[in-house]
Amino acid sequence: MHAQVGINGDGMARARAAALDVAEAVAGLRRAFEAGRTRSYAWRVAQLDALARLVTEHEGEILAALHADVGKPAIEAFSAEIAFITGEVKHTKKHLRSWMKPERVSTPLVTQPGSSAIQREPLGVVLIIGPWNYPLQLLLGGLVGAIAAGNCVVMKPSEVAPETSKLVAKLVPEYLDTDCVAVIEGGVPETTALLAERFDHILYTGNGTVGRIVMRAAAEHLTPVTLELGGKSPCIVDRSADLEIAVKRIAWAKFFNAGQTCIAPDYLLVHEDVHDRVLELFAATVRGFYGDDPKTSPDYARIVNARHHQRLMKLLPGSGAVAVGGEADEAERYLAPTILKDVPPESPIMEGEIFGPILPVLKVRTIDEAVRFVNARPKPLALYVYASDTAVQDEVLSRTSSGGAVVNHCTLHFAVPGLPFGGVGESGMGAYHGKHSFETFSHRKAVLKKPTSLDPPILYPPYTESKEGWIRRLL
Ligand code: NAD
Repeated sequence: MHAQVGINGDGMARARAAALDVAEAVAGLRRAFEAGRTRSYAWRVAQLDALARLVTEHEGEILAALHADVGKPAIEAFSAEIAFITGEVKHTKKHLRSWMKPERVSTPLVTQPGSSAIQREPLGVVLIIGPWNYPLQLLLGGLVGAIAAGNCVVMKPSEVAPETSKLVAKLVPEYLDTDCVAVIEGGVPETTALLAERFDHILYTGNGTVGRIVMRAAAEHLTPVTLELGGKSPCIVDRSADLEIAVKRIAWAKFFNAGQTCIAPDYLLVHEDVHDRVLELFAATVRGFYGDDPKTSPDYARIVNARHHQRLMKLLPGSGAVAVGGEADEAERYLAPTILKDVPPESPIMEGEIFGPILPVLKVRTIDEAVRFVNARPKPLALYVYASDTAVQDEVLSRTSSGGAVVNHCTLHFAVPGLPFGGVGESGMGAYHGKHSFETFSHRKAVLKKPTSLDPPILYPPYTESKEGWIRRLL
């Protein structure tokens, strides 16, 4: 079944039509789930293989769609979207049998004889709502865990990346089991219609305002949610850091996908002793990466749309001085890799998540000041610290809280399948990737198996003194 909702007319008409299509689609998926089709190991592996084939056999079309939507350079699109999905599939297939096995736990004396185990069971029908910035990876990456855990799935790609959304809606039914995996395209009316349905889990990736809408709707059905949100991820540069390497790594991570990455370093807190040197190195590094005119570089992405371009341009006045870049062309959705210096902490650029290629650099006198700056703000999705001094690394890691953290690099924790990926506090709840995705989309059922050959009478009334004595000894 492939429900594709994209209706002309006003929002209400769209919402009504969407509600009908959505209800029918979800009911079909639930029937398929209840028929038990998705539970076998064979079905799960076949779907994972089909998903890997989908992204590899259509690499060219996918790269073209991602380029049309976000101007993604081919190598960035390949590594962060296609290769991420094939990597997740490979890792999941390698371990799936062992993840599916009941996990034995010890059985205490009082419940002997018997054996105890945690049995992972699929949740049922799950919803994955994706954003536009990595529109393929953040939709199909979640799908890997959802099908590996034996669920039926509805995916709602972001309408802000329309070419990718269209392509996913076309390809998924060609490769995956159409009774069990559906794509519903659309924007707010379609998502609202989806959220009125009962799901067994929702994985939402996007901003915190919509995250709250998703969680409120989920509460109506007591549906658990994983919210992958954003925030301002700080990056601390200590005076002990290897500055040349630090600046290269920070610039790569910040300007990858033109800064439209949830875990991009949002702002820098640089020790005053190395502040000026860091700024000099940024100028040279940006030139080295993208040449004298980054607009002509094939390796530099674009801002997703005019609205986001205007939003970013409004953040610049009153936010310190431009040290590098600053050039912009709205018609081409271009904004140069931009470094800001002398940035007041209360300036517009320091208010919300930047989500674009602008990096404010703030000076700190001590690491303690940097830590206090971070801790005075909502808990971020990621935190980065560049320091060769391990005491500084440990101090920052132990005194701050963030979804994830990397020492001496940025963003790469995302690519370690053993690490849970998710936020904390304002940056989200729950996590996925690798085994953590499998766990997210599974229920851990507690199972105690008892034989009937022995049936000690001590549990049953009448409660005599001798039974009480035994119970007190055993518990
Ligand atoms: P977006 O505009 O594509 O929205 C995300 C999804 O929410 C879309 O599918 C959209 O249709 C849906 N949506 C929008 N408004 C809605 C409404 N009123 N009701 C119901 N659904 C609605 O993406 P975005 O939110 O602009 O994404 C950017 C944000 O996402 C940033 O804050 C970024 O940090 C965060 N993000 C987080 C991660 C992560 O893994 N934690 C990854 C990428 C992006």
